[in-house]
This record gives sequence, C-alpha cells and structure tokens, in this order.
Amino acid sequence: MEPQLRIDYSPIHGLGCYAAAPISSGVRVREYIGERIPAAEAIRREADTTRPAIFTLWLDEERAIDGWVGGNESIYINHCCEPNCDWDFEEDRAFIVTVRDIALDEELTIDYAYDANGPKERCGCGATACRGTLNVPAE
Ligand SMILES: [Zn+2]
Repeated sequence: MEPQLRIDYSPIHGLGCYAAAPISSGVRVREYIGERIPAAEAIRREADTTRPAIFTLWLDEERAIDGWVGGNESIYINHCCEPNCDWDFEEDRAFIVTVRDIALDEELTIDYAYDANGPKERCGCGATACRGTLNVPAE
C-alpha cells in the first residue's frame, strides 16, 4: 500500500509534500510518473515561464518524465541539501524512496542534483549542510 501523503504550504518553497502517517526508511513512497518526452521537448518545457516550476525528471540524456502532465504528489517534493528521500531507478522507471524513518507531518525532501554546468539555482532549504545551490558541485 502506498504511504499516505498530503500537500501543504512549505517553509522551503511553495507547496510541499508531507507524510500523513509515519513512513519507515527504505520505502518507495511514489513512482515519479508523467508524460514521457524527448530531450528537446524537455528543454523547451523547462524554459517555459508560464509553468510554476520545473517538473522534468531526466532518465538519461535522451529522455525525461514531465510530472506536470499526468503526475502525482511527487512533483511537490521540495529540494533539500540534507534530504530524507532519494531516487531509486529501475530500468526506465523512477521511484522516490525514503532514506530514513519519516515522522508524521514531516516534509519529504530530495536532492534535485541539478547539473553542475547548468544554470545555477539558489537553494534556501535551511539545512545545516546547505550548499546554497540546487546544482551539484563541479567535479
Ligand atoms: Zn540547500
């Protein structure tokens, strides 16, 4: 059975995704579903300023999933530099898995890990180890 989630305002950014009941570590919370699109279309949609945020999850350099079209609660999971969830890829599917126990009403977070060479996105997650950006450090 899928863990119960709820969407509510977040101190990190906009709306966030919260545990509506405690969730154990190692649980697949949701699959990141949505429209499957090729790279060129994903780049076009990421640049579309009429959208409230970026919802593309890249599977590889060729393909992405657009959670804004047909997605679920996963799209509301905010970035944090010390997240309580991680990506769990299986073939061409992407799941969000908890990396520690999550308490009732705790916000679910994940590391967006934007490309080190891409446009720099500022982070205000508030974690002690916040690196100040959603991008991963350059190698
Ligand atoms: Zn941060």
